[in-house]
Amino acid sequence: MEQARIVTASEPLQIEQIDLPSPPPDGLIVKTAFTGICHSDLHQWQDKIDLGGAVLKFTSFPGYKGVAGHEISGTVYSLGDNIKPSDDLQVNNRVVVYPWIGCQQCQYCIKNCSNICDKRLYIGLLIAGGFATYVQVPHKRYVVKVPDSIPMEIACMLPCSGITAYSAMAAAKPDVEMVTEFEDKKMIRYKNVHKLKMFYRAVGGDSVFTYLPTPKGWNEEFKNQIVTSNRAYMILSGLNLYHITNPCCYTGLCKEEKLAVARQLGCDDTVLWSRDKDEKTIMEDTVKKSCCKQGFIAIVDFVNTTTTFERNFGCLRKNGILIMVGLFGGGAQLSLPRVVMDSKKIRGVYTGKIDHLRELLQMLTEHRIVPPPIKYFQLNEVTEALQMMDEGKMKGRGIIKFGTISPTTSKETNEAKI
Ligand SMILES: [Zn+2]
Ligand SMILES: [Zn+2]
Repeated sequence: MEQARIVTASEPLQIEQIDLPSPPPDGLIVKTAFTGICHSDLHQWQDKIDLGGAVLKFTSFPGYKGVAGHEISGTVYSLGDNIKPSDDLQVNNRVVVYPWIGCQQCQYCIKNCSNICDKRLYIGLLIAGGFATYVQVPHKRYVVKVPDSIPMEIACMLPCSGITAYSAMAAAKPDVEMVTEFEDKKMIRYKNVHKLKMFYRAVGGDSVFTYLPTPKGWNEEFKNQIVTSNRAYMILSGLNLYHITNPCCYTGLCKEEKLAVARQLGCDDTVLWSRDKDEKTIMEDTVKKSCCKQGFIAIVDFVNTTTTFERNFGCLRKNGILIMVGLFGGGAQLSLPRVVMDSKKIRGVYTGKIDHLRELLQMLTEHRIVPPPIKYFQLNEVTEALQMMDEGKMKGRGIIKFGTISPTTSKETNEAKI
C-alpha cells in the first residue's frame, strides 16, 4: 500500500510503500476511495498547536504516526476474525469511517461520545489516516454504511466538516428556538417565524454545507417574507471572517471571490469585515443586521481566532450563545463582567457523535444538505493542496481521489451533485 507521510514540518510529504496491515480482530481494513483534506491536517503538517499561552507540537504526541487524513470513505477490503459472515458488514460494502476512536471505557465513550474521549486515539493522528490507499479501523462500530444514492466523495466529508457543522447547529438550536418562539407569540405579523429553526446553514473549515429546511428545499414565499422582514438571528462564521446568518446570510470575507462562493450557495446577504475598517465600525455594522438590532442570539465561529472570537462575542445579544468550533487560533481577551451582566454563553463543540454521522447520511438521501464544491487531488499532490489551503486559495473542499482521475475533472472545482 501507499501512504503520504509528514516527515518534516511544512516540507513535501513523503510518498512511501509499506506492507498492508492485517485487520484487527474486531475491526477491518478499508480501501480508500476519497479522503477530504481538513484544516486540522494543515495544522498537523505545520506541526503547530497554538493553545493561546502555549504552543504544542503534533510530533510530541506518543505514538504519533504522521499520516493525516480523517475524512475517509471507501470499501471494506478485509474483516477481522471476530466478525462473522452473518454480521451486517461484508467485504466490498461502501462505508464512511468515523475517525474519532475512543477507549470505550471512559464516561464519554460510554455515552457514545468518543469524539471527546479522555484518550483520543483518532484516525489521522494516532492511528494512520486516509492519506493512504488503505486504512486500518480498530472496530467495526466505527464505520457506517453509505447508501448507494450518496456519492463517496460527498460521504467522505461528513465525519469532520459535516458533523462539526451539524453538531454546532444542534448546540445553537435551543437558544434560537427559545427566542423565535417567544417573538412568534409577541409579533403576529411574523406568525411563521418559528419555522426559522429549520433555516440553519453551516460553514465548516474550508467548506460549506448548506442545510435546507425541507426535503423539497426552500419555501420561496416564506423565504421572501423572512428576508424582507430583515430578521437575522444567527451568524455562522468561518473561512477568514466568513459569516452566514439565519435567515438572512451575512458573510464577512476578506476576499470577494470567497464571498461570491457563499452567495452561490444561497447566502442572501453579506457584510464585509474589511481590514480597512476599525473594530467599532465593523461591530456596529454587523449588529445592525441582527434581529431588533441588538445582536445575535447565536453565533458559530468556525475560525475561532483571537479576532473572530472577540468580534463575535461583541456581536452577541444578551443571553446569546457563542459556539466555538475552529481550532488552534490562540487566546483572547474577555470582559468577565460582560459575560455575567449580559448572561452570555460560550460553548465549545468538537466534531460530533457517530449518531450525527448517521443522521447526516439520512439527510443527504432526503436532499436536505447541499455539499460544498470539490477540488480533486491525487495522493502525490497533497502537499500542493495543503499549500493552497495555507495561502487561502482553496475554494470549496480539497479531496484526494484514489485511482485514476479523468483529465476533464482533475484539478477542476466541480459543484458536487447529489
Ligand atoms: Zn477535520
Ligand atoms: Zn473514552
